[in-house]
Amino acid sequence: MIMTAQIIDGKTLAQTLRAGFKKRVEALMAAQGVRPGLAVILVGEDPASIVYVNNKVRACEEAGLYSEKWRYPADVAPAVVLEKIAGLNADPKVHGILVQLPLPAHFDEAAVLEAISPQKDVDGFHAENVGALAQGKPRFIPCTPYGVMKMFAQGGIDLSGREAVVIGRSNIVGKPMALLLINAGATVTVCHSRTRDLKAHTRRADILVAAVGKPHFVTADMLKPGAVVIDVGINRLPDGRLCGDVDFDAAKEVARQITPVPGGVGPMTIAMLLANTIEAAEREAGQ
Ligand code: NDP
Repeated sequence: MIMTAQIIDGKTLAQTLRAGFKKRVEALMAAQGVRPGLAVILVGEDPASIVYVNNKVRACEEAGLYSEKWRYPADVAPAVVLEKIAGLNADPKVHGILVQLPLPAHFDEAAVLEAISPQKDVDGFHAENVGALAQGKPRFIPCTPYGVMKMFAQGGIDLSGREAVVIGRSNIVGKPMALLLINAGATVTVCHSRTRDLKAHTRRADILVAAVGKPHFVTADMLKPGAVVIDVGINRLPDGRLCGDVDFDAAKEVARQITPVPGGVGPMTIAMLLANTIEAAEREAGQ
């Protein structure tokens, strides 16, 4: 019997989490007089980045966090941005610093990420924090895979001993996702553009995470019946609509649980940015 998959509703889960964050912020304010603060740096005019940054700042305001936004033209000298980061590292109002990626080509992205204090690196991209995650002792978990792990936890999805396949090996999604799944006891395969016979891997997956950036890349015939399918992709179709990496309509007839786009992983990413910033402030306040 074919059953339509249960939809993992990231939008609702993120709203629930954000209501809880608001209470945590109020508690920290009441107990220690500390308001968690996030500083966001945006370089250039990339329309998607502008939307993401505005959404992040708005989410902070709604949850009662302090936030500041620093915008620079695309041709700004990297030294100017590095100096700003140094100032924010020393600013007690700021507990989290985020540099919106991608940066223009004349920037050394790694050098910028390394300039952020590891204690304020709420994206979890600093080498020290990547190392801590790899060792299974994370300080900050990158927001997108952190959000996916929350979805597993909320859905009661047991990862231990399961076959997990991640498509994508980027530093911001694929690699940290694979580390988290390993740490949770899954047997993990990471696929990418050099993978031979992708379908042979994905067909074995009890848990499939797609982070490719290609619309409808994962088709129903690539899935193991009953799989949990997490679609990280955010792609814009020629008609302006957003879609994920998974052919959702067909995949939901094969999968057991599946995330939609929009309304899946995206809202969770922003929620976990708030979580990391609040955690940073609580740690700083000695809680
Ligand atoms: P990248 O472009 O950095 O990585 C894409 C990955 O997909 C690469 O590892 C690449 O392989 C792999 N890939 C490309 N083509 C194929 C193929 N034919 N077969 C197998 N693997 C392939 O993207 P990101 O990881 O930054 O993002 C992925 C998607 O997730 C994008 O759509 C992005 O917009 C979205 N995203 C969504 C977020 C959210 O909040 N929901 C947050 C961040 C990203 P190789 O390494 O070999 O090139």
